Amino acid sequence: MKRQITVLTGAGTSAESGIRTFRDADGLWEDHRVEDVATPSAWHRNPHLVLEFYNQRRKQMMEALPNAGHLALKALEEQFDVRIITQNVDDLHERAGSTNVLHLHGELRKTRSTGPSNNVYKLDGWQLNWGDNCPQGHQLRPHIVWFGEDVVEMDNAIRIVMQSNMVIIVGTSMQVYPANGLIRYTPEHVPVWVIDPNANELHSQRNATVLKEKAGLALPRLVHDLLQGAVEV
Ligand code: NAD
Repeated sequence: MKRQITVLTGAGTSAESGIRTFRDADGLWEDHRVEDVATPSAWHRNPHLVLEFYNQRRKQMMEALPNAGHLALKALEEQFDVRIITQNVDDLHERAGSTNVLHLHGELRKTRSTGPSNNVYKLDGWQLNWGDNCPQGHQLRPHIVWFGEDVVEMDNAIRIVMQSNMVIIVGTSMQVYPANGLIRYTPEHVPVWVIDPNANELHSQRNATVLKEKAGLALPRLVHDLLQGAVEV
C-alpha cells in the first residue's frame, strides 16, 4: 500500500500562476475588504458586487496555468497516496492532474442554490449573474465558504490528516480559522514540512522542517527527493 502524504495548500501555492494571495496588500483581497465581498452579509447587502468579485476571480483563474509546484504534486502520485487539502478556490490542482483534492473553502467552478435544497451545480464559463437560477427558481450564489460560514469539509479534512505518514504545508499564512488548526491532528512522529518564503512562528509547530522558499522552486525539489528516497516518509 502506498504511504500517504497530505498536502495542505493555500493561496501562496497559486501565487506563481499569477493569482494574488489574500494578504498581499494590507489585508485586502484584490483591492477589496473581505467584509464587502466574502461574507453572508456582503451577499445580502450587495449581491451584484459579490457576484462580480467572484466573476473576476473565476476569469483570472481560467486565464492562469498550473505552476511547477502544482505539477510536482501530481508527479508525487507516482509513488505516494497524495491527499491535497486546499484552502484555494481555484482549480489549478485539478488542472495539473491531481486526483485527490478536497476544497475546504469551496470552488469557483461551482455554484450553489440559495433555495432550501442548497444543491451544487457546475458552472460553465466565468460569469454567474443576478437572475441565474437553479431549476427550482432560486438565485444561484458562488459555491464558496464565506467568512463566518461553516466549513463543512472540516471533519473529512481532519480524518485525512490523522491518516498521514507525512504532512506538507505550502503557501498558507495559517491565519484562517479553522483550517489553521488542521496541523494539530497530525499524528506524533509524522514529519511535517513547511514551504513559505515568509514562514513565521505559526509555521514552526510540530517541529516542522521549514523551507523559506517559493512553492514553484521548493516543491519540485522536495518531490524529487521523496521520489528518489532521499527524504524518508
Ligand atoms: P494567505 O494569503 O493568508 O497567505 C498566503 C501565504 O502564502 C503567505 O504566508 C505567503 O507568505 C505565502 N506565499 C506567497 N507567495 C508564495 C509562494 N510563491 N510560494 C509559497 N508561499 C507563498 O492565504 P491563505 O492562508 O490560503 O488564506 C487565504 C484565504 O483566501 C483562503 O480562505 C482562500 O480561500 C482565499 N484565497 C484563495 C485564493 C486562490 O484560490 N488561489 C487566492 C487568494 C485568497
